Amino acid sequence: MAPVRAVIPDDFELPVDAFDIPLCYQGDLSGVVIPEGLVRDRVRRLAKDIHAEIGNKPIALLCVLKGSYKFFTALVEELTNARSACTEPMTVDFIRVKSYEDQSSTGQIQIMGLSNLDELKGKSVLVVDDISDTGRTLAKLLTTLKETGVEKTWTALLLSKRVKRHVDVPEDFVAFEIPDKFIVGYGLDYNQKFRDLGHICVMSPAGIEKYKN
Ligand code: 5GP
Repeated sequence: MAPVRAVIPDDFELPVDAFDIPLCYQGDLSGVVIPEGLVRDRVRRLAKDIHAEIGNKPIALLCVLKGSYKFFTALVEELTNARSACTEPMTVDFIRVKSYEDQSSTGQIQIMGLSNLDELKGKSVLVVDDISDTGRTLAKLLTTLKETGVEKTWTALLLSKRVKRHVDVPEDFVAFEIPDKFIVGYGLDYNQKFRDLGHICVMSPAGIEKYKN
């Protein structure tokens, strides 16, 4: 049975003023979709689900930068706890993928830092990504990993958007399913801003205008 996802309803947003928002982002946000504390709780359970599925195998965790840096750190910490009785080690690797400008996909997916990928040959890899929207980025990365000779892949996603995918991709472990909104925070950016914001939020029109390229 596939692990349960936490589903965020279409109209669910908490008032920004009910949260501690850094001064630099005051006025730039219109709602909190997922508070940081909830992400932490959910990641703890997700790590247990991942461990229950993968078990005591040597596993390489691949962090897809930049968007998943916070999720990756939290997941590695929780997985380390969940795997405390494992005899096989877990390793970490990093790759950078870029596809968005402003609020839309450029349709061109650049994978950078590929030289590392040879180290993943013959391994079982858990790809840790921030969000699946059209599915194109993850699909391209999974194809590249297969071509590199990776033996087995699983995917762990912080967010899965409730939209029709352009490409079908396996979403093995998903922390939250969210409505079709452009969101920022907890590692996700708008033109490189908001990655340092703890909560997952929706931007206000003023925020969109302020950081437009
Ligand atoms: P896809 O290829 O699935 O359309 O998009 C995946 C990538 O687009 C993600 O890794 C992320 O960088 C970016 N992306 C998609 N939706 C959003 C969003 O709502 N907010 C932000 N900040 N980035 C997004």
